[in-house]
Amino acid sequence: MKKDILGLYIHFPFCRRKCLYCDFPSYSGKEALMDEYMAAVKAEIDQVKKLVVEREVDTIFCGGGTPTLFSGQKLEELLTYIKDSFSVSQKAEITIEANPETLDRQKLEILRRAGINRLSIGMQAGQDEHIKKLGRIHTVRDVERSVQWARDLGFKNINLDLMFGLPNQSLDEWMESLDMALGMDIEHLSTYGLILEEGTPFFNLQRQGHLNTPSEEVEREMYHRTGPYLQAKGYTQYEISNFAKPGMECRHNLIYWKNGDYIGIGGGAHSSLEGKRWSNYSDISKYMDSINDKGVGKEHGQTIPIEEQRFETIMMGLRLIEGISKLEFRERFGQPLEYYYRDAVEILKKKAMLEENENSIYLTPKGMDFQNQVLLYFMD
Ligand code: SF4
Repeated sequence: MKKDILGLYIHFPFCRRKCLYCDFPSYSGKEALMDEYMAAVKAEIDQVKKLVVEREVDTIFCGGGTPTLFSGQKLEELLTYIKDSFSVSQKAEITIEANPETLDRQKLEILRRAGINRLSIGMQAGQDEHIKKLGRIHTVRDVERSVQWARDLGFKNINLDLMFGLPNQSLDEWMESLDMALGMDIEHLSTYGLILEEGTPFFNLQRQGHLNTPSEEVEREMYHRTGPYLQAKGYTQYEISNFAKPGMECRHNLIYWKNGDYIGIGGGAHSSLEGKRWSNYSDISKYMDSINDKGVGKEHGQTIPIEEQRFETIMMGLRLIEGISKLEFRERFGQPLEYYYRDAVEILKKKAMLEENENSIYLTPKGMDFQNQVLLYFMD
């Protein structure tokens, strides 16, 4: 198999407070475990680095949870540890996810010094009342201040996360949220529709009829307005939910969408390396116990059959607006894409859900709206 770029993901499963919609592996009120957790992450690095001695790390993504709940010094120490353990590219994209309530100028200064060159801030809405209703503990002003500090300190690549389809959110408020983010002149914008995940407080409120989310029609309208609006402001939509100024696409996430190789470290982290995949215990204590006993945090692992790898490459690649490169597909799987999927491509073209050119296949806006249906045609 062709050895491509490699991404490194570190998971920080701690948050100051749990948001009401969140089902990510992250916990509040467990700050007492943070030092021990950091030690476990370093111990896992000691083991995992042996798997990739000949590979160069092209991207590092510190995600969560809220990585910036850790002190600047701890994060800097970890970054140094990573650089000492792996062969990290000089041009590596190094991202940290941050929530405004955990940022201050001094911490950002340390992060910048540590080599973090991409900041991804959770904003979610342009109105304080909506942010509050999500159970979040910052304001729009906090976001603006964080972005300003980051700019002053020389961060040149900043992403903001926004969510649409929030309870009682109007279309105008969504467009206003986009404007607030654009007003900060950021390089990248992620816009996700609220999903009511089972087990979250929002899910239960919805069931009891206490959550007034917009109708599907309004929610779709929010999505459909977003692309052209951001396009007109100089941002290109390169993935269903992601927009960037030219050249500022998130290289780390592109590894996922191109079904590439990545190593995940920390509780609940997933890895995919050269046809093998594994995931760590998401329960922090079980993760740390596993590290202490065996040096690794792995709970499940499997070898991915080649036909599954092919399908996953299609599934992930069709999220990208540019679609799937025919050349990359053939280099990876030995045969042209048409060899495996000619029928699917032809049927979907007739349905106006997919288009192809010499270099790639990609979904039309209609295909993007019905991705699940599209994928059925690619299943063996
Ligand atoms: S800050 Fe993010 S990870 Fe933490 S609880 Fe909220 S949504 Fe979940």
